[in-house]
Amino acid sequence: MKALCWYGRGDVRVERVPDPELLNPRDAIVKVTRTAICGSDLHLYDAYIPTMRKGDILGHEFMGEVVEVGSGVDNLAVGDRVVVPFPIACGGCYFCQNDLWSLCDNSNPNARLAEALFGHAPAGIFGYSHLMGGYAGGQAEYVRVPFADVGPFKVPESVSDDQVLFLTDIFPTGYQAAEVAGISGGETVAVWGCGPVGQFAIRSALMLGAERVIAIDRVPERLEMAKQGGAEVINYEEVSSRDALTALTGGRGPDVCIEAVGMEAHGMGAAGVYDRLKQELKVETGRPHALREAILACRKGGVVSVAGVFGGFIDKLPMGAAFNKGLTFKMGQTHVHRYLKPLLARIEEGAIDPSFVITHRLALDDAPAGYKMFRDKHDGCVKVVLQP
Ligand code: NAD
Ligand code: ZN
Repeated sequence: MKALCWYGRGDVRVERVPDPELLNPRDAIVKVTRTAICGSDLHLYDAYIPTMRKGDILGHEFMGEVVEVGSGVDNLAVGDRVVVPFPIACGGCYFCQNDLWSLCDNSNPNARLAEALFGHAPAGIFGYSHLMGGYAGGQAEYVRVPFADVGPFKVPESVSDDQVLFLTDIFPTGYQAAEVAGISGGETVAVWGCGPVGQFAIRSALMLGAERVIAIDRVPERLEMAKQGGAEVINYEEVSSRDALTALTGGRGPDVCIEAVGMEAHGMGAAGVYDRLKQELKVETGRPHALREAILACRKGGVVSVAGVFGGFIDKLPMGAAFNKGLTFKMGQTHVHRYLKPLLARIEEGAIDPSFVITHRLALDDAPAGYKMFRDKHDGCVKVVLQP
């Protein structure tokens, strides 16, 4: 089959690789009909995440048709149309049983090694380095799905692929960032980053009842999409986000600050990892530090909700300000499984059509160009969908 493989910083290639096979009774094989490039894939593309190997298959946002099921999977049949959550979860451990799917204890064979090296044992994620289990990803014609009796979610014919594809990650991710911040009605919410995750955070905050959403970015097309979604916008290249937020909130600051940028903007997120592994990859971007800004801008007693991905030892956070302002922090990988049913219901009732975020569709063969365009934010690119 064809698959998109990682070769190094800025180097991804479409190659012929062996078809995946069932390895365990609880596996299924899915023929991929749609897969997307995520901001998280850019961390791999930029070589910010260690433990990638040349030839690793990328991709964690994908859906498709079940073409083979293992003997231990009795809830799926060949021909089922499914979306697959990006975190791999066993369904039986303490964390899965407590609805904390992205913290599964059993889905990452390299968890102990990761813990020894980096101080935490992450769950398995498709196409996301050996630190996260070394699973082949879904930017391919076929993919092996472990714990297929738990993750894949059947979707009805009444909704199109484009409408449900983002249930795999970015819709639940934006929604979780808003929900765990306790948005329940009347809040003023600031969102740093108008990439795909920020776009869903904006719309989710409004769906949950926020009175105002103020979105921050510098890319005109992304700010425009945020406006379409109901946000007021700040271009951080034109004004200081923090000053603008202070002014827009009568000096008090937003009730909830959602960080949907991640480590690239800080250029230092992975520094702790790379201090040990690859000194030369330490970079400074010269851009404002979104997480620091979120902490400083947030009103006293407010919530800072971090959807952006961080790695290593991010330091120099204004901890004194956070402490003395009595802030609450929420963060983490998304518990996608938790949100599949309720967010499908939102799509079916017409509260949101997630396909609004798609700006580009490409064949799998053109994925390398898609990565470059998405990373560089050229051609109005907000979200790229690949059709193998
Ligand atoms: P993206 O890279 O397309 O979007 C990031 C946006 O932030 C860009 O539009 C960029 O212009 C903007 N930005 C950069 N610096 C900024 C600053 N200082 N202030 C305001 N905006 C700034 O990526 P995305 O797909 O939207 O993902 C965003 C983050 O969410 C990434 O770190 C990604 O890894 C993470 N993510 C987390 C989860 C999770 O489970 N928590 C899931 C998916 C993605
Ligand atoms: Zn993703």
